[in-house]
Amino acid sequence: MTDAKPDTILTHAGTSPFDHHGIVNPPVYHASTVLFPNVAALEAADAAPFDTINYGRIGTPTSQALEGAVAELEGGYNAVTAASGLAAIATALSAFTKAGDHVLITDSAYGPTRRFCSEVLGRFGVAVDYYDPLIGAGIAALIRPTTRIVYLEAPGSLTFEVQDVPAIAAAAKTVGATVLMDNTWATPLYFRPFDHGVDVSIHAATKYIVGHSDAMLGLMVCSEAAYEPIKRTAVRFGTCAGPDDVYLGLRGLRTLSVRLKRHGQAALALANWLANQPEVERLLYPARPDDPGHALWRRDFTGASGLFSAQFRPCPKPAIAALLDSLKLFGIGYSWGGFESLALPVHPRSIRTATRWTHPGPLVRFHAGLEDIDDLIADLDQGFERLRAAIRSGADSP
Ligand SMILES: *Cc1c(COP(=O)(O)O)cnc(C)c1O
Repeated sequence: MTDAKPDTILTHAGTSPFDHHGIVNPPVYHASTVLFPNVAALEAADAAPFDTINYGRIGTPTSQALEGAVAELEGGYNAVTAASGLAAIATALSAFTKAGDHVLITDSAYGPTRRFCSEVLGRFGVAVDYYDPLIGAGIAALIRPTTRIVYLEAPGSLTFEVQDVPAIAAAAKTVGATVLMDNTWATPLYFRPFDHGVDVSIHAATKYIVGHSDAMLGLMVCSEAAYEPIKRTAVRFGTCAGPDDVYLGLRGLRTLSVRLKRHGQAALALANWLANQPEVERLLYPARPDDPGHALWRRDFTGASGLFSAQFRPCPKPAIAALLDSLKLFGIGYSWGGFESLALPVHPRSIRTATRWTHPGPLVRFHAGLEDIDDLIADLDQGFERLRAAIRSGADSP
């Protein structure tokens, strides 16, 4: 299906009904031991350890169905499944580094990605530098002869900076560094990393691909050159995922496009409503024309998903708690990408090192779920009344 459009790939990739009694969906293989009919077959499988199914940990037809489907959708060569997004990130970063190497990580990376780099890669003798996500081609000044990985995430976690992916990838290629990108926010549908110089596209499939807040799953989608080192490292680490969770990823894929469209519509409506509240200073959502990353986002992305942040004007902490505690439709919790709306106070100041987050007011990250948009806005409306009451009572108290 090389000419098929994304919605068609989503609907049919990874299925082969007539290999399975005509049943539409692929079976869920629960496997550890894989039997061979004779010693010759065993030896043939052992000679190609990364390509043949010779043990449950190496892969099953279920994991291969998901990997093939996501690679086809994103335009990669093949993919490798992991038990979580973070396991995929850790495996991918390990695949290209050794002691004495240097890696460049965007300052806007997901917090646990930074902790893996600083605490684990650092312990193994890899030098880790963080860079301004908006550095663009200027990253050339930070690249060393020993730079093996340039790691991107766009838009950035919590703060949604849009990176100039092609400019950064081009600079990385001058020393042969591998370009890794966390593409979780955009999903394979709204950003095509392989068209922009990325070698490995990483997904927390836990988020939109699974899409129902009920499984942990990671994916590394690879260029042809990156696949062998990634698969080899995954096999060495024992990186794999449970078959039921892999199946939930495959099932989630089928509806990804329609869900994302709705998440994006709702997010834009909520962001626009929030932008009109006097307590909100600005929105961090590249789909809004006033976002500093809007032009780059329009150039390289084909849509926006449902996650964004709102920067509040300075106000007492209990007032934000009063707002969030009063919301009936927005849960307070980590993760995102499920069907439900979420609101979470977030604190980029404490994790940045290459750049400084100087805004004094609180930051709240919202995930727009699939609820009725008017109901979500009504919920926010009553929440802002609580916020205002809390600000007033704070001002009245001695
Ligand atoms: C959640 C998240 C991850 C980690 O995924 P898990 O499946 O929770 O380990 C990685 N990157 C981004 C951008 C995320 O939001």
